[in-house]
Amino acid sequence: MDLDLAPRTSSRPHARAVVDEVERLGTDGRDGLGEAEAATRLADHGPNVLPEATGDPAWRRALGQLADPLIYVLLAAAATTLVLGEYVDASVIAAVVLVNATVGFIQETRALAALEGLRSLALAEARVVRDGRLRTVGSADLVPGDLVALQPGDKVPADLRLVGADDVRVDESALTGESDPVAKRDAVLPAETRVADRCTMFHAGTLVRTGSAQGLVVATGEDTELGAIHRMVSGAELLATPLTRKLARFSSLLTVVIVALAAVTFAVGLLRGQDAASMFTAAVALAVGAIPEALPAAVTVVLAIGVTRLVHRHAVVRRLPAVETLGGTTVICTDKTGTLTTNQMTVRAVWTPDGSYDVSGAGYDPDGQVTRDGAVADTARDAALRWSLTAGSWCNDAGLDHDGSQWLLTGDPTEGAMKVAALKTDVAGVPGRGLARTATIPFDARRPFMATLHQADDRTGVVLVKGAVEQVAALCDLQMRADGTTEPLDHAALSQAVDDLAARGLRVLATAVDVDGSAVDFTPADLHRTDLVLTGLQAMLDPPRPAAAAAIAACLAAGIEVRMITGDHAATAAAVAAELHLDPRTDRPVVLTGAELASLDDEAYGAAITSTRVFARVAPEEKLRLVTALQAQGHVVAMTGDGVNDAPALRRADIGIAMGLGGTEVAKDAADMVLLDDDFATIEAAVEEGRGVFDNLVKFILWTLPTNMGEGLVILVAVLLGTALPILPTQILWINMTTAVLLGLTLAFEPREPGVMLRPPRAPDRPLLTGPLVWRTVLVAGLLVAASSWVFDAALAAGSGLAEARTAAVSVFVLVEIAYLVSCRSQTRATWRLGLLSNPWVVGGIVVQLLAQAAFTYLPVMNTVFGTAPLDLASWARVLTAAAVVTAVIAADKARAVRRRARTPTG
Ligand code: ATP
Repeated sequence: MDLDLAPRTSSRPHARAVVDEVERLGTDGRDGLGEAEAATRLADHGPNVLPEATGDPAWRRALGQLADPLIYVLLAAAATTLVLGEYVDASVIAAVVLVNATVGFIQETRALAALEGLRSLALAEARVVRDGRLRTVGSADLVPGDLVALQPGDKVPADLRLVGADDVRVDESALTGESDPVAKRDAVLPAETRVADRCTMFHAGTLVRTGSAQGLVVATGEDTELGAIHRMVSGAELLATPLTRKLARFSSLLTVVIVALAAVTFAVGLLRGQDAASMFTAAVALAVGAIPEALPAAVTVVLAIGVTRLVHRHAVVRRLPAVETLGGTTVICTDKTGTLTTNQMTVRAVWTPDGSYDVSGAGYDPDGQVTRDGAVADTARDAALRWSLTAGSWCNDAGLDHDGSQWLLTGDPTEGAMKVAALKTDVAGVPGRGLARTATIPFDARRPFMATLHQADDRTGVVLVKGAVEQVAALCDLQMRADGTTEPLDHAALSQAVDDLAARGLRVLATAVDVDGSAVDFTPADLHRTDLVLTGLQAMLDPPRPAAAAAIAACLAAGIEVRMITGDHAATAAAVAAELHLDPRTDRPVVLTGAELASLDDEAYGAAITSTRVFARVAPEEKLRLVTALQAQGHVVAMTGDGVNDAPALRRADIGIAMGLGGTEVAKDAADMVLLDDDFATIEAAVEEGRGVFDNLVKFILWTLPTNMGEGLVILVAVLLGTALPILPTQILWINMTTAVLLGLTLAFEPREPGVMLRPPRAPDRPLLTGPLVWRTVLVAGLLVAASSWVFDAALAAGSGLAEARTAAVSVFVLVEIAYLVSCRSQTRATWRLGLLSNPWVVGGIVVQLLAQAAFTYLPVMNTVFGTAPLDLASWARVLTAAAVVTAVIAADKARAVRRRARTPTG
C-alpha cells in the first residue's frame, strides 16, 4: 500500500476531516488496522519511542570527564613538566588524568545503562482497536493508522487525530506550558493553527485528565510534536542529586583552598632557595593528593548500585535523587486499598432493610451461596436483595473470564466482587434481559459512586446506583422492603449496619435503584431529581497483605511514622489500621475524615495531622494539603497514589510513589518511584535500601577525606619545615591514582548493615561535614604524616638510602589506607564482626593494591620511574610497626565512636 504519511502542510491531520484522515492512513475508523498490517507498518516506521534522553555520544561523555577545574590544573601541570623536561612526572600526571577519566567514564556509562534498563521496565501500554477488538499493546508497538482508546489517567502515546470524544480534557503542559487542561472536539482547523490550539489533536506525552476519546495515530516516535521538541533539548541531567550538588560545592571550595595552599608551598619553597621545577611538581602533587577527585564517581556508583538493588526489591526509581532521599524518609503516607490490603475483594454479607444475608465462597469464583440463617436466599421473595445484587452486577464495568483453570478479573476488584456475588444467585440474568445500558456516570474518587441508566422495551428506564454509603444515602429518601414496597429511609438503622460491618474491617458499598427512572441528561446533579430507593449494603473482605503488618512494624522501629490515607469509610479504615497495628499508641486508632480536616484552620490542622494516624474519606485533592503541612513540620514525606488526581500530591511529596500495577500513567509520571507490586512492604524495603546507599556514601567520604588530606599534608609539612620530602610528588600521584580506584570505590559495594532499620531517620538538614568527620579527618591525616615521616627518618638514621626511605614511607601510607578502608566498612560494628568475604570487592581491591605495591617496590622499571628501591627486612619491620600502631589508634578511636553512637544513634 502506498501511504502518504509524511506530515505535509497540505495534509496536516488537524486541517482535514476524520474521514479523509482515515482514508489517507489506509485504516478503518471503527475496526482499526489488522494485526498483520500493523506488523508491516511497525517494520517500516520503527518502534514508537523517542531516542534516549541522555543522547550524548560516547566520545562527548568521555571528553566531558576532563571538564573539571582540577583536571585543568593537572593538564597544565603535565604540560609544564613536559616543557621542563620532567618526562616521568609528566607521564605520571597524564596517567592520573587518564585513570580518573576512564573510571569516571565507565561508571557513568554503567549508571546510565542501569537507568535506561529501568525506563523499559516502566514502559507504558496503550489500548488499541485492531481487527475490531480492543486490546492492550506496549505503546512502542503503535503505528500510524492505529485506532487508540483514551481514558482518564492515560498518557497520550503518539500524536492522534481525534475520532470521537466524550467531554475529554487534556493536560498539555508538558508540550505547551499551559497548565489548565484543554477541551478537545472534532472540527476542521486552518492548517496554520498553532499546536496549543489544535483541539482536534491529542499530542504524545500529554495527559488525559477527564472524559474518554478515540484517536487515530498520525505520527509516532520522533515524528511527533514531542519528538520535535526532544530533538531540540539536550540530554537531561539525570545524575545530579542534592547530595552531589552539595559535594560539588564542597569540592570546588576545597579545590580553591588546596590550590591556594599549593601556591603558598610553591612560594615558600622558592624563598627557601629550592628550584622552581621541583617546587612546581611538589605543589601539583599536593593539590592532586589532597583533592578527593574520586568523590563524584563514587556518588554515581553508589546511587546506581542502589537503583539496581531496588529493582530486585520491586521498586523502580525514576529519578536518581530519590534513592538518596528515601533513606531520610520520616513519614510514609499510604493508601489502604491495594497497598496495605491485597485488593482482592469478596462480598461477605449483604444487608437489606429487612435483614442480612451471608455470602460464602472465595475469590472471583462464583461458586458460593447467599444464605440467611443457613437457608439459601430466594431472590424472588426479597426484592431489596434482588435489586441490590442487580445494581452490583449491572452498574459495573468489570469483566470475569474463566481461562480453563481459574476465574480472572479485568477491571476494578470492587466491581468484580459485586458481580461475583450476583453470580452466586440467579439474579445476574433476571432483569438484564432487554435492559440495555444507555448512559453511565462513571465512578470518580471525588464523587465516590457510579450510576447507570438502563432502557427496557416495556419501561421508561431503570437507574442503578452503587457507591460510598454516605453518597448513595444522600440520593435516597426511601428504602426498599422485601416485598418491593418502599418506606422512608431509616438512617439510624443504616448507619448501625454500616458500623457493624465496617468494624469487621469490611468495605461497605450501598446500592440503590429507581425502577421508573426517566433521567434526561443523566448527570450527577440529575440523579437528585430521580426517585432512588436504597436497596441495601454489600460488605466485602479485602484481606491485609501478608507482609504489611511486619513492614509497618519495621517502619515504626526505624522511627518512621506511617499514616493511612484512604477514600474508604472511617470505620473500615480504623478496623484495618487496628489489625495492622498502624498506630503503636493504641489498638483503636482515632480516625479523621476529609470533611473534618477541611473544617480546620491551619493551626488546628497541623495539630490534628500530628496526632492522627488514620485519615478516611479523603479525596485525592486533599492529599496535597496534608503533604505540604507535614513538610512544614520538617518531615521528609513519602506519599503513595494511583489516580489522576493524586499527581499533585505525588509531585509535592519528597518521594512520590506510584502503583505499577494499579496506577495510572499520570500518577507514574508524577512519581519518583514506582512499585512494581503495589505492596507496602516494598516501600519499607526501598527505605531500607536508601539508608544502605546513604551509609555507603558516608563510608566513602569517611575514607577519602582523611587519606587525601594526609597525601597533601605530607608534602605541605615537608616544604614548610624545609626538610627533605619523605614522599616524592610522583609517588604521591601513584598513591592517589591507585588507592582511590582500587580501595575507595570498593566501599560502594558494601552490603547493607544489619540494623539500618533500627535507628532513627537522619536529620534532613544534617551538614556534610559533621564534627566527628572533621575529627576523623584530622586524626587520620595527622597519623599518616607522622607515621610516614617517622619511618622515613628512621630509615635514613639506620643508613638506608633516600630512595629506600621514601619507598618505606609510601608503604606505610598504603598499608594504613588499606587498614583504614577495612575500618570504614562499618561505622557501627567492630571490623572483626563484618566477615571477611561479605564484600569481595574490598578483598579483591586490597589484593590488587598489594600486588601493585610489590611491583612499585621491587620492579626495576618502577624503581626507575618512581625513584623507589626494594626494602630490606629491617625497613619492613619499621613499616609494619608504624602501620600497626596507627591502625591500633584508629581502631581505638572507632571503638569510642561506636560506643558513643550506640548511646546516641543519629542515623
Ligand atoms: P484507597 O484510597 O486506600 O486506595 P479506596 O479504594 O477505598 O482506598 P477510592 O477508590 O477513592 O478509595 O474509593 C472510595 C469509595 O468509593 C470506596 O470506599 C467505595 O465506597 C466507593 N467505590 C470504590 N470503587 C467504586 C466503584 N467502582 N463504584 C462505585 N463506588 C466505588
